[in-house]
Amino acid sequence: MTPLDLLDLDASLSEEERQIRAVVRQLVTDRVRPHVAGWYEDGEVPARELAREFGKLGLLGMHLTGYGCAGASAVAYGLACLELEAGDSGVRSLVSVQGSLAMYAIWRFGSEEQKQRWLPAMATGDAIGCFGLTEPDHGSDPASMATRARRDGDDWILTGGKMWITNAPIADVAVIWARTDSGVRGFAVPMDTPGVTAREIRRKMSLRASLTGEIALDDVRLPADAQLPEAVGLKAPLSCLTEARHGIVWGALGAARDCLETALEYATTRTQFGRPLAGFQLTQAKLADMAVEWNKGLLLALHLGRLADAGTLRPEQVSVGKLNNVREALAIARQCRTILGANGVSGDYPVMRHANNLESVLTYEGTSEIHQLVIGQRLTGLSAFA
Ligand SMILES: Cc1cc2nc3c(=O)[nH]c(=O)nc-3n(C[C@H](O)[C@H](O)[C@H](O)COP(=O)(O)OP(=O)(O)OC[C@H]3O[C@@H](n4cnc5c(N)ncnc54)[C@H](O)[C@@H]3O)c2cc1C
Repeated sequence: MTPLDLLDLDASLSEEERQIRAVVRQLVTDRVRPHVAGWYEDGEVPARELAREFGKLGLLGMHLTGYGCAGASAVAYGLACLELEAGDSGVRSLVSVQGSLAMYAIWRFGSEEQKQRWLPAMATGDAIGCFGLTEPDHGSDPASMATRARRDGDDWILTGGKMWITNAPIADVAVIWARTDSGVRGFAVPMDTPGVTAREIRRKMSLRASLTGEIALDDVRLPADAQLPEAVGLKAPLSCLTEARHGIVWGALGAARDCLETALEYATTRTQFGRPLAGFQLTQAKLADMAVEWNKGLLLALHLGRLADAGTLRPEQVSVGKLNNVREALAIARQCRTILGANGVSGDYPVMRHANNLESVLTYEGTSEIHQLVIGQRLTGLSAFA
């Protein structure tokens, strides 16, 4: 138990959940922490190498069953996301997109042949997946997507483009969502198919230890069996987002915890006016408020995780978690930055990196505004999306 665990929430975890958490925490300590500041600064990350190491530990598609996946509980998966994001949100994004978006889409909506082809290799990290929903002109409103899939005999021809796609620059397979004459459908698109090109998006000021790309689809001819047979309509990609958002509910707390631990350590060792910063009432008020929010966030994550394990978690409940936990994590990161003074803006400390990363986490997987609208619709029975 750490001082941060004010509510003894550790005690409500099973022994197995604690063990999984410890293994991932150690991996992050050994493999991510020593290098991540450099990856962030350079905007480079050895994603393939990391994916293979994560695969060895069963972290890819961890909460899925069969096809080489670990079949862990939703809470165990959430704890893994938390530990990964305590290292860096970009590293957690690699795992989330691989497991909760790309693998989940194939696992949930794919044919047996598609599952056999992709899932075992993705679970070991030998194949990397990405998930293409967002387009340059259609983000929060994917129902308006412009990417089209049309029939040509038995084949499909895909035309359009996807934007802001995590893992795209190194992906072997993209799950692409496109409009057909009969509504939105999903396709497992090998990235070496003629007509598919991926361009890396550089100059990000956030999530720099994560590879993000733009995918162009220029009359891409796919055999009929590239279509995910069970994915019918927009609710298919949205259900994938619900999976990934659950991981983010936990993950964001990891970034916040790392900021809080850094600020606590800093405040107890840095002296001004003849006493440690932590001895000032104003600093303690900041620390107390942040710790309260962090514990409330963990309580929420645990509750949602237990609902997921019971099979009763609803999308608007995930919206409650994503909205609250990312918003509070970002507020914690910014507040911790003030405690570190000038060092707060230095890359020698992780706080500014986490704060910058959380700006992306706030936007992807549904912006805060979109989650407010989801919750508002549940409360009022009225859709205020358009
Ligand atoms: C680093 C990074 C990685 C990403 N990875 C992926 C990925 O792997 N796959 C993928 O498909 N996408 C990915 N995304 C894209 C992400 O999901 C979108 O950026 C997000 O959905 C928002 O879309 P947008 O950027 O087009 O913003 P817009 O939809 O243009 O929104 C701009 C602003 O307007 C607000 N807004 C929009 N509609 C409404 C409304 N009805 N009412 C009130 N406010 C509204 C939004 O909340 C936001 O504040 C990634 C994004 C980032 C930054």
